[in-house]
Amino acid sequence: LLSALDLHKSFGPTKALVGAEMHVRAGEMVAVMGPSGSGKSTMLHCLAGIVPPDSGEVRYDGRLLTGMSDAERSALRRGEFGFVFQFGQLVPELSCLENVALPLRLAGMRRGEAERRAAEWMARLEVDDLSRKRPGEVSGGQGQRVAVARSLVTGPRVIFADEPTGALDSLNGERVMQLFTAAAKESGAAVVLVTHEPRVAAYSDREVIVRDGRALNAERIG
Ligand code: ATP
Ligand code: MG
Repeated sequence: LLSALDLHKSFGPTKALVGAEMHVRAGEMVAVMGPSGSGKSTMLHCLAGIVPPDSGEVRYDGRLLTGMSDAERSALRRGEFGFVFQFGQLVPELSCLENVALPLRLAGMRRGEAERRAAEWMARLEVDDLSRKRPGEVSGGQGQRVAVARSLVTGPRVIFADEPTGALDSLNGERVMQLFTAAAKESGAAVVLVTHEPRVAAYSDREVIVRDGRALNAERIG
Protein backbone atom coordinates (compact mmCIF):
# COMPACT_ATOMS: atom_id res chain seq x y z
CA LEU A 1 0.00 0.00 0.00
CA LEU A 2 2.81 2.37 0.97
CA SER A 3 6.43 2.21 -0.20
CA ALA A 4 9.48 4.36 0.31
CA LEU A 5 12.62 3.86 -1.75
CA ASP A 6 16.09 5.29 -1.23
CA LEU A 7 15.00 8.20 0.98
CA HIS A 8 17.60 10.84 1.80
CA LYS A 9 16.92 13.72 4.15
CA SER A 10 19.35 16.14 5.80
CA PHE A 11 18.77 18.94 8.25
CA GLY A 12 21.75 21.20 7.64
CA PRO A 13 24.81 19.06 8.35
CA THR A 14 22.75 16.29 10.00
CA LYS A 15 21.94 13.35 7.77
CA ALA A 16 18.66 12.00 9.17
CA LEU A 17 17.97 9.49 6.37
CA VAL A 18 20.59 8.01 4.05
CA GLY A 19 18.95 5.63 1.61
CA ALA A 20 16.10 4.39 3.79
CA GLU A 21 13.55 1.95 2.40
CA MET A 22 10.27 0.78 3.84
CA HIS A 23 7.08 -0.99 2.76
CA VAL A 24 3.68 -1.26 4.39
CA ARG A 25 0.96 -3.66 3.30
CA ALA A 26 -2.74 -2.83 3.56
CA GLY A 27 -4.09 -3.52 7.03
CA GLU A 28 -0.82 -4.45 8.74
CA MET A 29 0.76 -2.81 11.76
CA VAL A 30 4.48 -2.17 11.34
CA ALA A 31 6.57 -1.05 14.30
CA VAL A 32 9.50 1.23 13.48
CA MET A 33 12.16 0.68 16.14
CA GLY A 34 15.67 2.01 16.66
CA PRO A 35 17.82 4.23 18.85
CA SER A 36 17.08 7.89 19.55
CA GLY A 37 18.13 10.08 16.63
CA SER A 38 18.26 7.16 14.16
CA GLY A 39 15.68 8.75 11.85
CA LYS A 40 12.41 7.07 12.87
CA SER A 41 10.31 10.23 13.10
CA THR A 42 11.85 11.63 9.93
CA MET A 43 10.96 8.39 8.14
CA LEU A 44 7.36 8.63 9.38
CA HIS A 45 7.11 12.29 8.30
CA CYS A 46 8.40 11.45 4.81
CA LEU A 47 6.06 8.45 4.45
CA ALA A 48 3.09 10.58 5.50
CA GLY A 49 3.97 13.43 3.15
CA ILE A 50 4.49 15.89 6.01
CA VAL A 51 8.17 16.46 5.22
CA PRO A 52 9.56 16.20 1.67
CA PRO A 53 12.66 14.01 1.35
CA ASP A 54 15.69 15.54 -0.40
CA SER A 55 15.64 12.58 -2.79
CA GLY A 56 14.02 9.19 -3.14
CA GLU A 57 10.36 8.39 -3.66
CA VAL A 58 7.26 7.52 -1.68
CA ARG A 59 4.38 5.71 -3.35
CA TYR A 60 0.92 5.36 -1.88
CA ASP A 61 -1.63 3.11 -3.57
CA GLY A 62 0.15 3.41 -6.92
CA ARG A 63 0.41 7.19 -6.71
CA LEU A 64 3.73 9.01 -6.43
CA LEU A 65 3.31 11.01 -3.23
CA THR A 66 6.69 12.67 -3.65
CA GLY A 67 5.62 14.01 -7.05
CA MET A 68 2.38 15.65 -5.88
CA SER A 69 1.68 19.33 -5.32
CA ASP A 70 1.31 20.50 -1.72
CA ALA A 71 -2.46 20.79 -2.22
CA GLU A 72 -2.75 17.23 -3.56
CA ARG A 73 -0.62 15.91 -0.70
CA SER A 74 -2.63 17.62 2.00
CA ALA A 75 -5.90 16.43 0.45
CA LEU A 76 -4.49 12.89 0.49
CA ARG A 77 -3.45 13.27 4.14
CA ARG A 78 -6.86 14.52 5.20
CA GLY A 79 -8.74 11.90 3.22
CA GLU A 80 -6.71 8.73 3.71
CA PHE A 81 -4.31 9.15 6.63
CA GLY A 82 -4.77 9.45 10.38
CA PHE A 83 -2.25 10.66 12.95
CA VAL A 84 -1.48 10.02 16.62
CA PHE A 85 1.45 11.73 18.35
CA GLN A 86 3.17 11.36 21.71
CA PHE A 87 1.19 14.16 23.33
CA GLY A 88 -2.34 13.71 21.91
CA GLN A 89 -2.39 17.21 20.41
CA LEU A 90 -6.05 17.59 21.19
CA VAL A 91 -7.55 21.07 20.91
CA PRO A 92 -7.81 22.25 24.54
CA GLU A 93 -10.84 24.50 23.99
CA LEU A 94 -12.99 21.71 22.54
CA SER A 95 -14.64 18.83 24.39
CA CYS A 96 -13.25 15.35 23.78
CA LEU A 97 -16.27 14.55 21.57
CA GLU A 98 -15.73 17.72 19.51
CA ASN A 99 -12.05 16.83 19.15
CA VAL A 100 -12.89 13.41 17.73
CA ALA A 101 -15.55 14.90 15.44
CA LEU A 102 -13.21 17.66 14.23
CA PRO A 103 -11.70 15.89 11.17
CA LEU A 104 -15.24 15.15 9.94
CA ARG A 105 -16.39 18.72 10.61
CA LEU A 106 -13.36 20.03 8.66
CA ALA A 107 -14.37 17.74 5.80
CA GLY A 108 -17.78 19.48 5.76
CA MET A 109 -19.92 16.93 7.60
CA ARG A 110 -22.91 18.23 9.57
CA ARG A 111 -22.46 18.43 13.31
CA GLY A 112 -25.06 15.83 14.28
CA GLU A 113 -23.71 13.14 11.96
CA ALA A 114 -20.07 13.94 12.78
CA GLU A 115 -20.70 13.69 16.52
CA ARG A 116 -22.68 10.48 16.12
CA ARG A 117 -19.73 8.84 14.33
CA ALA A 118 -17.27 10.34 16.82
CA ALA A 119 -19.27 8.83 19.69
CA GLU A 120 -19.05 5.36 18.06
CA TRP A 121 -15.25 5.53 17.90
CA MET A 122 -15.02 6.85 21.44
CA ALA A 123 -17.07 3.87 22.61
CA ARG A 124 -14.65 1.50 20.82
CA LEU A 125 -11.72 3.14 22.61
CA GLU A 126 -13.71 3.04 25.87
CA VAL A 127 -13.67 6.80 26.40
CA ASP A 128 -17.32 7.57 25.59
CA ASP A 129 -17.90 8.62 29.20
CA LEU A 130 -15.44 11.51 28.63
CA SER A 131 -17.38 13.09 25.74
CA ARG A 132 -18.17 16.35 27.50
CA LYS A 133 -14.83 16.76 29.24
CA ARG A 134 -12.04 18.93 27.88
CA PRO A 135 -8.63 17.34 27.17
CA GLY A 136 -7.19 19.10 30.25
CA GLU A 137 -9.64 17.20 32.45
CA VAL A 138 -8.70 13.65 31.40
CA SER A 139 -5.68 11.46 32.19
CA GLY A 140 -2.76 10.91 29.80
CA GLY A 141 -3.92 7.45 28.81
CA GLN A 142 -7.50 8.61 28.31
CA GLY A 143 -6.28 11.53 26.19
CA GLN A 144 -4.26 9.18 23.98
CA ARG A 145 -7.32 6.95 23.50
CA VAL A 146 -9.30 10.06 22.47
CA ALA A 147 -6.48 10.90 20.02
CA VAL A 148 -6.64 7.34 18.62
CA ALA A 149 -10.43 7.67 18.20
CA ARG A 150 -9.85 10.95 16.32
CA SER A 151 -7.28 9.28 14.04
CA LEU A 152 -9.79 6.56 13.07
CA VAL A 153 -12.96 8.62 12.69
CA THR A 154 -12.49 9.43 8.99
CA GLY A 155 -11.90 5.77 8.08
CA PRO A 156 -8.24 6.25 7.03
CA ARG A 157 -6.30 3.50 5.25
CA VAL A 158 -3.07 4.33 7.09
CA ILE A 159 -2.52 5.65 10.61
CA PHE A 160 0.84 7.16 11.51
CA ALA A 161 1.60 6.96 15.22
CA ASP A 162 4.81 8.49 16.61
CA GLU A 163 5.48 7.24 20.16
CA PRO A 164 1.73 7.13 20.99
CA THR A 165 2.51 5.65 24.41
CA GLY A 166 5.74 7.56 24.99
CA ALA A 167 4.29 9.79 27.69
CA LEU A 168 2.46 6.99 29.52
CA ASP A 169 3.38 4.48 32.22
CA SER A 170 3.54 0.90 31.00
CA LEU A 171 0.09 -0.12 32.25
CA ASN A 172 -1.64 2.78 30.49
CA GLY A 173 0.55 2.22 27.44
CA GLU A 174 -0.57 -1.40 27.22
CA ARG A 175 -4.23 -0.39 27.50
CA VAL A 176 -3.87 2.19 24.71
CA MET A 177 -2.12 -0.39 22.50
CA GLN A 178 -4.73 -3.12 23.15
CA LEU A 179 -7.59 -0.82 22.16
CA PHE A 180 -5.64 0.84 19.33
CA THR A 181 -4.65 -2.52 17.79
CA ALA A 182 -8.18 -3.91 18.01
CA ALA A 183 -9.77 -0.77 16.55
CA ALA A 184 -7.23 -0.53 13.71
CA LYS A 185 -7.75 -4.21 12.78
CA GLU A 186 -11.50 -3.77 12.89
CA SER A 187 -11.35 -0.75 10.59
CA GLY A 188 -8.78 -2.36 8.26
CA ALA A 189 -6.33 0.53 8.61
CA ALA A 190 -2.59 -0.09 8.30
CA VAL A 191 -0.54 1.41 11.12
CA VAL A 192 3.02 2.77 11.05
CA LEU A 193 3.96 2.76 14.72
CA VAL A 194 7.17 4.47 15.83
CA THR A 195 8.27 3.31 19.27
CA HIS A 196 11.42 2.48 21.19
CA GLU A 197 9.56 0.21 23.63
CA PRO A 198 9.73 -3.52 22.78
CA ARG A 199 6.51 -4.12 24.73
CA VAL A 200 4.70 -1.66 22.50
CA ALA A 201 6.28 -3.03 19.31
CA ALA A 202 5.03 -6.49 20.34
CA TYR A 203 1.52 -5.42 19.28
CA SER A 204 2.66 -5.03 15.66
CA ASP A 205 2.67 -7.64 12.89
CA ARG A 206 6.38 -7.01 12.25
CA GLU A 207 9.21 -4.71 13.21
CA VAL A 208 11.46 -2.57 11.04
CA ILE A 209 14.73 -1.48 12.65
CA VAL A 210 16.10 1.94 11.74
CA ARG A 211 19.74 2.66 12.46
CA ASP A 212 21.84 5.62 11.28
CA GLY A 213 19.20 6.72 8.76
CA ARG A 214 18.71 3.30 7.18
CA ALA A 215 16.08 0.61 7.64
CA LEU A 216 17.91 -2.66 8.30
CA ASN A 217 15.03 -4.98 7.34
CA ALA A 218 12.69 -3.04 5.08
CA GLU A 219 11.07 -6.25 3.72
CA ARG A 220 10.52 -5.45 0.10
CA ILE A 221 7.11 -6.47 -1.25
CA GLY A 222 5.06 -6.50 -4.45
P1 ATP B 1 13.78 9.79 18.81
O1 ATP B 1 13.71 8.34 19.16
O2 ATP B 1 14.63 10.54 19.78
O3 ATP B 1 12.46 10.43 18.57
P2 ATP B 1 14.20 9.58 15.94
O4 ATP B 1 14.72 8.24 15.55
O5 ATP B 1 12.75 9.83 15.75
O6 ATP B 1 14.64 9.88 17.43
P3 ATP B 1 14.57 11.81 14.15
O7 ATP B 1 13.67 12.76 14.86
O8 ATP B 1 14.07 11.24 12.88
O9 ATP B 1 15.05 10.64 15.11
O10 ATP B 1 15.93 12.60 13.89
C1 ATP B 1 17.00 12.07 13.12
C2 ATP B 1 18.13 13.10 13.13
O11 ATP B 1 17.72 14.28 12.44
C3 ATP B 1 18.56 13.55 14.52
O12 ATP B 1 19.94 13.75 14.53
C4 ATP B 1 17.81 14.86 14.70
O13 ATP B 1 18.52 15.71 15.57
C5 ATP B 1 17.75 15.41 13.29
N1 ATP B 1 16.55 16.23 13.04
C6 ATP B 1 15.29 15.76 12.98
N2 ATP B 1 14.40 16.74 12.70
C7 ATP B 1 15.13 17.88 12.60
C8 ATP B 1 14.82 19.25 12.33
N3 ATP B 1 13.56 19.64 12.09
N4 ATP B 1 15.82 20.14 12.31
C9 ATP B 1 17.10 19.74 12.53
N5 ATP B 1 17.47 18.47 12.78
C10 ATP B 1 16.51 17.54 12.82
MG1 MG C 1 11.23 10.48 17.05
